[in-house]
This record gives sequence, C-alpha cells and structure tokens, in this order.
Amino acid sequence: MRVKRSFDHRTLGSEVVLASSAMAVVAAMWLTGWLPAVERSTGDLLLRTPSLPRPEPPIVAILIDDAAVAQRGALPWPRSRLARLVATVDNLGARGVVFDLILSEPAEAAGDLGLAEALAEIPHVLGAAMGDGNSWLLPLEVFGGADAAAHVYGEVGPDGVVRTIAATKQTGGLSLPSLSLAAARLLRPQIPVPAGVELRPEFRPPPQDIPSFSASTVLDGELPENTIRDRIVFVGVSATGAGDQFVVPTGPRHAPVPGVLAHASVAASVLSDRLIRRPGGGWTAVAAFILALAVQALRSRRGTFDLGRFSILFAGLGVIAIVALHLGLVLLPLATLLTVVVVSALLREAVESRAAHRESGRLLQSLLEHIDARSSDDRVPQTASRRLEALQRLQEGVLREDATRRALLAGMAEGVALWSADGELLEVNPAAEKLWGGLPRLGEIESVLDPATGEGTLKRAGRELSLQTSALEGGLLAIIRDVTAEHELERRRREMQRLVSHELKTPLASISGFGETLERYELTGDEQRRVASLIRGEAARLQEMVTVFLDLENLGAGHWEGEAEFVDFGELVRGRLEILAAAADARKQSFASFLADRCLVRGVPALLERVIDNLIGNAIKYSIDRDAIEVVVRADNGRIIFEVSDHGPGIPADEIPRLTERFYRIAGAAESGSGLGLALVDEITTWHGGCIIIESETGAGSTFTVELPAAGED
Ligand code: ADP
Repeated sequence: MRVKRSFDHRTLGSEVVLASSAMAVVAAMWLTGWLPAVERSTGDLLLRTPSLPRPEPPIVAILIDDAAVAQRGALPWPRSRLARLVATVDNLGARGVVFDLILSEPAEAAGDLGLAEALAEIPHVLGAAMGDGNSWLLPLEVFGGADAAAHVYGEVGPDGVVRTIAATKQTGGLSLPSLSLAAARLLRPQIPVPAGVELRPEFRPPPQDIPSFSASTVLDGELPENTIRDRIVFVGVSATGAGDQFVVPTGPRHAPVPGVLAHASVAASVLSDRLIRRPGGGWTAVAAFILALAVQALRSRRGTFDLGRFSILFAGLGVIAIVALHLGLVLLPLATLLTVVVVSALLREAVESRAAHRESGRLLQSLLEHIDARSSDDRVPQTASRRLEALQRLQEGVLREDATRRALLAGMAEGVALWSADGELLEVNPAAEKLWGGLPRLGEIESVLDPATGEGTLKRAGRELSLQTSALEGGLLAIIRDVTAEHELERRRREMQRLVSHELKTPLASISGFGETLERYELTGDEQRRVASLIRGEAARLQEMVTVFLDLENLGAGHWEGEAEFVDFGELVRGRLEILAAAADARKQSFASFLADRCLVRGVPALLERVIDNLIGNAIKYSIDRDAIEVVVRADNGRIIFEVSDHGPGIPADEIPRLTERFYRIAGAAESGSGLGLALVDEITTWHGGCIIIESETGAGSTFTVELPAAGED
C-alpha cells in the first residue's frame, strides 16, 4: 500500500519559489519600516562590538562644563575669556582649534579683537549654523568668516540617533563642510570634501572616550604638560541645558552626548579611516536571495532544520558581519539577512507541514481501510480531534493484529525466526527458541543451507532440526522443524524391513525346508523326531527374535513410561540365577555370585530381568563347559553395579564398540543368536539412566558391567 505524494518539496523549482516568496515577505517588511528599524539597531550593535585597536588620533576636547560655568559665570562667555582659552591652547602647542560655538554676533569690541588675534595665531575651524531663512549664521569676518566656517549638524535618524554626517551642507548658495571633516583637514589637508555625500563614521573612539578637560582647568593653567601638544583641540559646551546634544551609536546607551564630543569622535573616525560603507540594495537583494536558496537546499538535503544548525548559521552570519565591519569597514545588513534565513525556513516548514498534514491524513485513512474495512466509508479526518480518534482506532487495530500474529506464532509447533537485511533478529517464536535451545543464530543457519533450495538440517542438543528458509524483504525467514521423531521412525522402518527381509527369511526357509523333508521322504520315527526338534528350534529362535524386537520397539515407543518402581537389584538377580541354573547345569557350569543387600534402583522389573537373562545367558552360551561364571551386584558411589564375568573365548577389541548395534553378531560365533540381545541390554540400560561397559580379552574371557543410578526409597 502506497500513498502518492501530492507535493514534492525537494525539487529545485519549489526551492526557487520558496526562496522568492521569502524575499517578497522581507521586501514587505522593509516597506512597512519594521525591518529598517531592526536593521538600525543591529547596525548599532555591530558598531559596539570590540574592534582591533588602532592608533589614537590626536584629538582632545575642552568642555565648558557645569564646573566651568559655576566658577567663571553663565553662558555665553565673554569673547575675551574665549580669547584667553585659545591663547592658552596655542601656547601649549596645539595644532589647531575647532570651535563648536556660533560666533556670528559681534560682542564687545575689545573681546572680539582679542579673540580674532588669538585665532589668527592658530589654524582654526569655527561652527556655523543655519539661520532663519536661506542663510548661514557665519563666524564674524574678523574670525575668518566663511573661510573658517563649518556646519555643526549631524543627520538625526527616525529613532533620534545620529549615524551619518553630511560631508557638506548648502544653503543660500554657500556650501560648508562638516565641522568634523574640516577639523580633520587641519591635520591632513589632503582629505577630500565630497559634496552631497553622507559620511557614515564608525564613531570610534566613542565620544565619551575622547580625552577632555574642563575649560576652567585650562583657564587656571592647571592643564598637565603635553596633554594638547600637536593635537587638534575641540572647544564646545557640555554644561547642562546648553549646547547641542547628540545620541550616537557608540555613545552611552540611549543617552545623548555633548555635540562637541560627537564631532570630535567623527573627526577621529575620519582621521583613522573609519568611515564605513553599506552594500547597495542590489547586492543586498542578491545576497539575501542566495541565502534564502541555501536554506532551502540545506533543508531539503538534510530533511530537517534543527535549532542547532539554525544557531550555527546565525552565529556564522554574525561573525561574518563583525569581521566585514572591522576588517573591511563594510556594514552588512545583518538583520535583513537573518530575517531572510528565518522567513525562508519558516515558509518551508509551513508548506511542508501543510503537505505532510494532507498526506498523513490520507495515509491514516488508507491504513484504517487496510486494518478495518468498515473505515472505508469515513472521510479523511481533517481536524486534530478526528485524527486523534482515527489514530486511536488505528492503534487498536494494529495492537489487535499484533496480538493475533503473536498468538499464531506462539501456537505454532514449528519454530519461526526472521532476520532483517542487516542481520538483526526481528522475530522469533517460542518454538524456535525451544528447538534451538536459545535464540537461533543466523550464521549457523546459513552455514548449513543448500544455496539452491534454501533448505538444510543440523543437530542441536540431541535433536535433528530441518531448516526451510526464504528471503523476505532483504532479510531471511527460517522455519525450523524437529525431525528427530521422523528420522527415528524412518530408522525403525528400515530395521523392520531388514528383520523381515533378512533375519526372518533364513529361519523360515529352514522351517520350510524341514517341512519339505517330512513331506517328501519316508522317515523313521527317530528321524522324524529330529526334524521336528529342528523345526521347533528354528521356530523358537524366530519367536525369541520377534519378542526381543517387539521389546525394543515398545521401549522406543515409550510403552513402559510410568511403570517404574523400586527394585532390589540383588534380589532380582538372585531370582533369575535360580532359573538360569538349569541351563548352566546342562554345561556343567557354576555361578560364583556376590549379591549385596539393598541395592535399590528405580526401574521396570520385567525389563531389568531381560538385562540379567541376556548377560548371564550369553555367558553360559559363549563360555566353555565347566566354567565358573561370576555374578556381582554391589553399590558404588551412587550407582548400582551389575557385573557378569566368564572365562570364555572373549571378544576381539575392534568388535566391542559394535556389539550393541541391532542384529550385530560376531562373524563365525559358535552359537546361534539374533544379534539383538546386547542391543536390548543397551537400550534398557539407557532407558533406566545407566550404561553398559564391555571389557574383554580374546582367549581370557569377558566382563559385562551394567551401571544404574541407585535409588533411595525415601
Ligand atoms: P546373540 O543373539 O548373537 O547372542 P547378542 O547381542 O547377545 O546376540 O550378542 C552379540 C554377539 O556378541 C554374539 O554373537 C557373540 O558373538 C558376542 N558375545 C556376547 N556375549 C559374549 C560372551 N559372554 N563371550 C563372548 N562373546 C559374546
């Protein structure tokens, strides 16, 4: 059962579509102004990251601060005092002075003259503001007029933060450079003044780090030696409630700094080449699109886009932005790029989860139909609660099927084992474990399989197992059967065949031959008796053979199960010796017996008597006349030992191991027999949990020892 995919989100086409959609969303965010606002804050954050140190530009600031105002008097300060300030600065060896003060109105003549004289001694830049109407409030001509003037503005962003400075500002036909640019040119006149360009300084060192001193310290002559030698000195107001205040990206968070310090910071940025660039809109769009596409490709190749990988991508972009800023002075639109990544990933998740939702609904439905045909009337469950219900039904169905499968497997007499393609055991039923004596091993099974048929047999824990295997979804399914009984039956069938075709045929042929003799010839009374006795002898041999054979069969078929009782083996032997004495007497043989008391075993007396009769019978049969046959019954270390020894011809060593096979007789044995006696002894002994040991020396006699487990009556 397969469900067709309705949306293939792994194709290049869909990746491009999703990446473009992400771009459209981000463009919309730009238009609403939300993204530019985030971009501004992110840019500020980048500017505040620590950067590699560069040589400090020679810039200091002298501030008319609250202390100076308190000591020397309120603003505006008389020009004579400013003149003294300039003269002091000049005397201390400054390279130039930059006034963030507007000196457009004439004041008392002597003061103006003094200031003009002081300024004439030192290169200077003076602030100019835009007045009402279309005009500049320029410094007085005596101070240098338009030639010394520079504008004091910063471009205030929508959030009140100054990030750019206009390189020049124009009004009333006069274009003035920015105060910071003009200040920098006091040291490096070759710095160009590009008209109409927005400078984006790094504001480094930040305004609060520009070395600054109170004007009153300077006027008191308390300025330490060499603090302003060869430096550009910015002069401005920082006293509370007076002078311009700027908020700049690198300033204290959200707090304004005195305009003069902001200008000084910009001039320092210009002098240490810390003017930053932003990539144009086109480049940003291309980079954003590539990123959006990369996210799609990454996502479709990996299948998931986990948080860890997201974070790595984010951190990577952040590091690239920081490196670009501090090495190349390029301010990447980090917020835009990050937003593209997020939107691209979210879009994909949204589209995929919709498709997955639809597909899982269909899958659920078809599974339900598969498990329970009644569900086919239902519609594909759409709502979460319907899905949950459907899932519960599915779970019940699956559990039911699983239980049925397990019950079937558990109830099977055959062992079933299933391995996956990589050799993992997926399924094994109790019968397989029982037959194998643990978990079946794939390697062992494969080693005995016939590659052509996939079948094989092996022996485990005394059982013969047949294996039938077939390939199943790349793995292997094995059916294990116990064929011990089958094989045993087959063996017995063959023995039966042998008995009938071989062993019974010979005596029957003799009987038939004797019968024919009686029929054909006129025999005397004596001759008739002899032939009749021969017929009786053969018939008795046949009878004995059939009896023993049936005894053996009964033993194998479990006929005697449950008939065992406590038997005093010594007593049993004593009883049989009395009966067998007649046969021994006939050959003038005697018994030397030692029968210990209370030699108890658990067994079937009728079977144990067959053991005794056979062993003593053989001793009588195969040993010489007048022999003394020794019979011993004793207990030894938890076993009951029964020994029968004679001094007969003995048995060749190489024949001994085969004596217990059915129908095995030593070629040329003097006496006739069936070859079943010792087989019966062996099987009865084994059935009782014991064993038989045969020791013999040719010419010296034999000892047959039977060991049985001793039994306590309690
Ligand atoms: P059988 O009916 O021939 O006696 P058995 O299984 O009892 O069958 O014995 C198998 C063979 O073992 C006999 O043919 C005989 O040659 C040999 N055999 C058994 N007992 C003795 C013994 N006490 N001394 C010598 N040979 C023996």
